[in-house]
Amino acid sequence: MSELRRRLPARPLALALLALALTTLVMLAFRARLDKAHVALIYLLVVLGGSAAGGRVLGIALGVSAFLLFNVFFLPPYNTLSLADPLDWLVLFTFLVTSVVAAELLDRLRRNAMLAEARASELDRLATLGAETLNAARADQALSAIADVIRQTVGVEQCELFIWDSDEGELRRIAASRAAGDETSTGMESTELLKYVASTRRSAIEREDGTIHVVGDSESDSPPTTSRSGTAFAIALAARGQTVGALRISARAPFAFSPDQSRVLSALAYYAALAIYRLRLERAEETTESLRRADRLKDALLASVSHDLRTPLTTIKGIAHEIFDQGQPRAAVIEEEADRLSSLVDGLLEMSQLDAGVLQVEPAFNTVDDLIGAALRRAETVLRDHPIETDIAEEEMIAGRFDFSHSLRIVVNLLENAAKYSPARTPIAIGAECRDGEIRISISDRGPGVPPSERDRIFEPFYRAPGATPDVRGAGLGLSIARRLAEAQGGSLEINERQGGGSTFVLALPAAEAPKT
Ligand code: ADP
Repeated sequence: MSELRRRLPARPLALALLALALTTLVMLAFRARLDKAHVALIYLLVVLGGSAAGGRVLGIALGVSAFLLFNVFFLPPYNTLSLADPLDWLVLFTFLVTSVVAAELLDRLRRNAMLAEARASELDRLATLGAETLNAARADQALSAIADVIRQTVGVEQCELFIWDSDEGELRRIAASRAAGDETSTGMESTELLKYVASTRRSAIEREDGTIHVVGDSESDSPPTTSRSGTAFAIALAARGQTVGALRISARAPFAFSPDQSRVLSALAYYAALAIYRLRLERAEETTESLRRADRLKDALLASVSHDLRTPLTTIKGIAHEIFDQGQPRAAVIEEEADRLSSLVDGLLEMSQLDAGVLQVEPAFNTVDDLIGAALRRAETVLRDHPIETDIAEEEMIAGRFDFSHSLRIVVNLLENAAKYSPARTPIAIGAECRDGEIRISISDRGPGVPPSERDRIFEPFYRAPGATPDVRGAGLGLSIARRLAEAQGGSLEINERQGGGSTFVLALPAAEAPKT
């Protein structure tokens, strides 16, 4: 009964009955002058008007009423349902069929028009949203707009959007529709609901009793068409093949989606996924930019601190030297420490210059003999406990195009390390060869060697191998500077395992033809 009342809206029904009654009264007044066709057409007009205004059920109800009125008042014998002429049944039957079919057709047209209107406004909304998403200065503004549109479209109280933080393995609320109130914010079960959909890329619904039900059988089923109702509904948001977040719709009273709502929700969810994807990109870019800025700041700071430290160190060294000369042997320790500090400061300065790309490199024609000779003289003191074995092809001069002072710095560093990290009296071998357009200078020692897992790391700034001889002092800058100096000249610096124990460092630099004289 209540179903019929819902289908037969009171106002159009009253109006239609009134129109039918009036039409009947007017036609009764002129009954003698009207023929059957007039009556049928006038009644048909009322039926069509009724079904256009009130829908199919009203149209059919009017058709049946008009059928009865036609029979009783306009077909003889009057005021009875019986008919004098059996052919009049044909007239009546044709009238009834025409009314019903017309009501049906009109209703179909009306519904199609309503659907088209709904689609048009849906399209309109999507287009506006698309434009808003694209035009929003920031992706988070676009997200709030999307949450609002979803809430309105689906007709729920709350729509929240969450971003998937892959570092923390968590979902964080990033936007909510404007009607958001604290009372609808994520509860415990909802967190579970969200985590569930994000990890499985499925859609799920939360019932009033807090139980969670998966909607659809596979990933492709999200977002949902569901006949189930619940108080919260969540969909995983994915863009470009990765889960970027989740969407949660909630209401105080249980709700379900119609297929149409579900279709729109699907499109809107995709917009939300794209906006979150964009937000993640923006954030990654911001992090990179702030890292870059911090890096530039560090370089500038390093350069200025190194400069400022140099002067007092030179003064300290001078004073310590004077005190030593005046017969205070302990002042030698101060001098040594000042030397160590100033080499650390030099290293830092060199590092920052390399980072900033302002270190001057002047490649020129140089021979390996000259380079090794100069390095041996420079490292003479540290090498005094180690016999030196050289293996340099003597018959032909090995030459390259490299910056002499930078390369000297590298070879001296390698020799100092070889002496530092190998037991006294063990030999240090120096080799040189020219191969494949490169000169390769090798420095080998009989020290502990460097395990394969550490071989890349010893070239990182400030890295000292865990097993590094504890009484050997060092800042861990030497090798990283050496490698970068080698690379700045178009060369390389590698470490190899040495047959029979120890390590071999190989410095490669571009070879050069001897200039024609
Ligand atoms: P430092 O010698 O000041 O610690 P380096 O950058 O020159 O810094 O070297 C980095 C690390 O590499 C050293 O701490 C040491 O553990 C390892 N290393 C360098 N040269 C050798 C070598 N010849 N033999 C063994 N280990 C070495």
